[in-house]
Amino acid sequence: MANQMSNDILIQTIKYGTHKSKQEWIEDFKTIGIDVPQFVLDYDREEDIKQSKYYKKNKNTINKKINCKCGGKFTKHNKSAHLQTKKHLKYLKEKAVVEKMMREVITEIVNNVINHL
Ligand SMILES: [Zn+2]
Repeated sequence: MANQMSNDILIQTIKYGTHKSKQEWIEDFKTIGIDVPQFVLDYDREEDIKQSKYYKKNKNTINKKINCKCGGKFTKHNKSAHLQTKKHLKYLKEKAVVEKMMREVITEIVNNVINHL
């Protein structure tokens, strides 16, 4: 019984069966002998509605593409995933190499100046 398909149906039923409260739905499931999975019991319809309202209202901000220094793009939502991409990691690696080279060049220049004082 507890496969993904039936779980999804339970969630959708509770979600869109707006004429009944979640508790009433759960009682109904129990009456017909269906064990309601824990995540359905935990499901918070108010929170879900709030989230989707928030999404609609802030869609543009949420989906806004931000240019990354690596040349890639990310949204607020997938920023942390972007920071783990090959492209971004390659950029960080190259940046570290360039910074190390720059430090060495600057150290050399400073040493030359000091030696000629
Ligand atoms: Zn990046």
